[in-house]
Amino acid sequence: MKKIGIGLDLGGTTMLATAVSEDGRILKQEIRETPAREKAKIILRSIVDLLRLVENWSLSENLEIVGIGLGLPGLVNFTTGVVELMPNFPKMRGFPIIDELKKYFDYKLFYENDASAALLGEYRFGAGKGVDDLICFTIGTGIGGAVLIDGKLLRGPEGFAGELGHITLDPDGPLCGCGNRGCLEALASSSAIVRRAKEIISEGKIKTLLSNYLEREEELNASIIAEEANKGDLLAQKVYEETGKWLGIAIGSLANIFNIYLFLIGGGVASAGDVLFKPMIDETFKRAMPGIREKIKIDRFKLGDNAGVIGASTLPFYAD
Ligand SMILES: [Zn+2]
Repeated sequence: MKKIGIGLDLGGTTMLATAVSEDGRILKQEIRETPAREKAKIILRSIVDLLRLVENWSLSENLEIVGIGLGLPGLVNFTTGVVELMPNFPKMRGFPIIDELKKYFDYKLFYENDASAALLGEYRFGAGKGVDDLICFTIGTGIGGAVLIDGKLLRGPEGFAGELGHITLDPDGPLCGCGNRGCLEALASSSAIVRRAKEIISEGKIKTLLSNYLEREEELNASIIAEEANKGDLLAQKVYEETGKWLGIAIGSLANIFNIYLFLIGGGVASAGDVLFKPMIDETFKRAMPGIREKIKIDRFKLGDNAGVIGASTLPFYAD
């Protein structure tokens, strides 16, 4: 019987569940909206239903389910399985999500932070294959981070390590979802990109096509800004240049701290391309020390948006 792992990537807007083979191939995928603002029990029900769909499909295909793996956002205590903090899920705080899920499934259950799951996906099947020291960023509405050293995830006592989005870069900078000011997340996430674009538009100094969106009251988002930047819009380019710089400052510092050379960038913002990567690579080179900086490589996720769910689904295969 062919073995598969079932996994879930829990996002603030959508959740993704898959059945994945041992060599990292997705055999079945289900997606649905996340009722993120609802009570914890309702969110749990939704997770159970989605996993059940993939489970039933797997059983009907005569596949052997090795276990279930979860990629969870925010801070979930690695020793107790209790949600410490999930900024996008206000009513999940204090919820024993792992114990609750165990009531519904008899399989072995594994979980990691969502960015860590994405890192493991890329490390095992994607752009990080064979590289035992690497760092991942997932850049969307927030910024997730994960660190792999000697082939092992850096976790810390409760599993909270690797919150790279919450490095303070600008002490008086914009307010972050975590309550601090000037975190990398508050400066370089997709929400920060939109906020910054609106700020520069309102200064009125640079002519830009983006102001049309505001006049038509159309929603401005980070991918529209990236599109305009790639077409040559100066204001949009300035926003991505600033974003790349903030990321480069963080990456250069991290390279110095950990002696890590491979940095992988995933999430929606990563698809902006050169308008983001060029300033990011230039700034990284400026900030990292000689002897280290020459070897740094910054790349995009190879598995794209599926990195997290593939990493989560294959957790059962790697359990010791
Ligand atoms: Zn923060």
